[in-house]
Amino acid sequence: MNDEWQTSPGGLVSALVPILQERHGSWVGWTGVADFAPEVFGHDGIELRPVPLSEAELDGYYFGFCNGTLWPLYHDAIRVPQYHRHWWGPYREVNRRFAEETARALHPGDVAWIQDYQLQLVPGLLRDLRDDVTIGFYLHIPFPPVELFARLPWRKEMLDGLLGADVIAFQTQLGRHNFARCAKRFAGAQGGTRQLRIADRIVRLKTAPISIDAARFSEAAESASVQRSAARLREELGSNRTVVLGVDRLDYTKGIDVRLRAFETLLESHPADDLVFVQIAVPSREEVGDYSAMRALVEQIVGRINGDHARPGHVPVHYLYRNVPFEQLVAYYAAADVMTVTPLRDGLNLVAKEYVASRVNGDGVLVLSEFAGAASELPSAVLVNPHDLDGVAASLERAVAMPIEEQRQRMGRMRRQVQTHDVFDWAQKCLTDLNA
Ligand code: ADP
Repeated sequence: MNDEWQTSPGGLVSALVPILQERHGSWVGWTGVADFAPEVFGHDGIELRPVPLSEAELDGYYFGFCNGTLWPLYHDAIRVPQYHRHWWGPYREVNRRFAEETARALHPGDVAWIQDYQLQLVPGLLRDLRDDVTIGFYLHIPFPPVELFARLPWRKEMLDGLLGADVIAFQTQLGRHNFARCAKRFAGAQGGTRQLRIADRIVRLKTAPISIDAARFSEAAESASVQRSAARLREELGSNRTVVLGVDRLDYTKGIDVRLRAFETLLESHPADDLVFVQIAVPSREEVGDYSAMRALVEQIVGRINGDHARPGHVPVHYLYRNVPFEQLVAYYAAADVMTVTPLRDGLNLVAKEYVASRVNGDGVLVLSEFAGAASELPSAVLVNPHDLDGVAASLERAVAMPIEEQRQRMGRMRRQVQTHDVFDWAQKCLTDLNA
């Protein structure tokens, strides 16, 4: 069975696998298939501990509570969060199961590091089971302001769960501050934004923005095969046209509609022959109604723009609704003069960093939402407020026309940031914080 398992290629996994291998660690997780949980087994020098989820739990826990309640609530309530007791039950139950499996994997003095909003009750549940280990929690998405978090019917339970950790780390300072305020208001914690006291325990709060395997993107962008693909793409898209790119999961937080509308505005003053927009959208959470509605909206806008501006052989918006293999993704990054990342709210946004890491020639312009966590690390991007459509359109215009010297200066600063703060650096920093 071992040979059927493949290590997933993301940056988080490539950073954690060597650390787990070195420490003979265990990975506790879901297999990705409902009602399927093999026994504990070893793979690539790591012990894997699958936690089973039934089809019904996937509905209530994952599509329901995680993605119908927490995801919209934590992203500024961009869509109305739904609060259902029949979703909360499975969330608690699945978190309990993860805590129990994790407790089985740990030896006295070990470190448990829990990832993300799907498992916020695990630190508290695990502490009840094992008071002899160090517990860390990392939140990959934003933590909302107190006036939004206050709406959650189970806000006290959620905070008690998180406060079971010794260290809680956030993507941004804003998330850390929001959490500290909520913990003091609703869970009886005392202290500041770096350290809280709860009963007789201290919980440390950290800011540690996640990153990417920057070298992997740069090396791919420098490879002959990616350069050939990028040149071919430029040829196919129209060699004289300015290529504007968007790459996202198709999620309503990402502002895909915003950038398309801004591009549409730009086409009023620019001949469509000069510009081309490529939007790559990965299918995501289609079982959740707000996602299918967003897909329909995006496709309607693409259809309208092309209906108004296309001519035979020339289409202003190319829309790819699919997953793209790594090398091809880097070829798109390498081919794009302007990258648009315009979420209404985003924990960090890795795509912004991937574009920067792939610009080995040192040119290109990143248009980046102020509401993406990455904005605090990449102030040399062209920063936009995605709620201000005219503003986004004006910034897009500026990006398209930016002189090459200015592009190089800005991109140079961003590349230095991404290269010196990669995902390996992030993992080391988090673990150092946990061991302190
Ligand atoms: P989120 O975690 O909310 O999806 P991020 O921007 O932080 O947003 O991470 C998205 C990841 O998915 C990036 O690593 C990006 O390369 C990848 N990705 C996005 N769109 C595609 C696509 N069409 N094909 C393949 N990978 C994609």
